[in-house]
Amino acid sequence: KRAGGNSLRFYQDVESSIQVRDRLLVETDLRRALLQDEITVYYQPKIDCCTTGIVGVEALARWKHPTNGLLTPADFIDVAEETGLILPLGETVLRLACQQGRIWFDEGCGIPLAVNVSVRELEQPNFTARVLKVIEETGFPADQLELEVTETVAMADPEGLQNTIHPLREAGVRFAIDDFGTGYSSLAYLQRLPFDTFKIDRSFISGLGVEDSNRLIVQTILAMAQSLNFDVVAEGVETLEQHSILREIGCATAQGYLFGAPMAADMFAIWRAGFSCT
Ligand code: C2E
Ligand code: CA
Ligand code: CA
Ligand code: CA
Repeated sequence: KRAGGNSLRFYQDVESSIQVRDRLLVETDLRRALLQDEITVYYQPKIDCCTTGIVGVEALARWKHPTNGLLTPADFIDVAEETGLILPLGETVLRLACQQGRIWFDEGCGIPLAVNVSVRELEQPNFTARVLKVIEETGFPADQLELEVTETVAMADPEGLQNTIHPLREAGVRFAIDDFGTGYSSLAYLQRLPFDTFKIDRSFISGLGVEDSNRLIVQTILAMAQSLNFDVVAEGVETLEQHSILREIGCATAQGYLFGAPMAADMFAIWRAGFSCT
């Protein structure tokens, strides 16, 4: 028994040291990637549930890795958050997305743009100044920008964040709660933080049409959003059935593979040209 216990512990130690080594490798590699412009942005459409016209686009980070191909955030966001690299990464994504968004406006096909920010970034004292600087430098219209905040870590100081958010809201920037219904204290935010939009997490949408409870949950979120004057976006819509239920229960906006997956900017432009435009 004793030996068994020891070998189990030994196994765990090996496991965690491999993880530590992997993380160090990712960190070093990500630092290099940021300097060498390997970070790029993919764009996923947001759709009007009734007309299926495009009403916005979400920017999602991608890493064009020289040997491992195109990496998604699952491969690097955690390490970025733990090491603080999320700050230069987030700023890179914001700048690239605003530059691209500005080009679309200049071409006469401007579209509201959403960019993800982690609570880590929001909590930086100079966050507001950095975002305003990117807006100014890229010339992207601030009132067409929405920041989607994910609750991967609990907010240390929601009251303090009001001071961060306020000047951005004054400039017209909107705020969304990402992955609503998961993570930390979504409901607690509502009273304290001035958000504009809920994004209902995919886990509730994927159960639509399968389990009645999911329909009820989504309906309840919609009702709450309506009475609190929030916009709602349903995430991860993959089937026609999910789309028709969402339309039925009055969800205005949706996103998901059914309509369009995240795409490189040039692909997005082509896809959009072939799509019903609004
Ligand atoms: P998210 O903000 O909730 O973004 C939605 C994720 O679901 C994206 O994954 C998207 O590709 C995926 N998705 C969209 N439609 C569907 C669908 O119909 N079915 C399924 N199964 N998945 C769908 P992605 O691009 O891998 O991003 C994962 C997460 O990484 C994002 O989740 C967001 O929290 C984070 N992230 C991405 N880019 C950034 C960034 O620039 N900064 C920060 N802080 N986080 C980011
Ligand atoms: Ca998001
Ligand atoms: Ca989400
Ligand atoms: Ca998510």
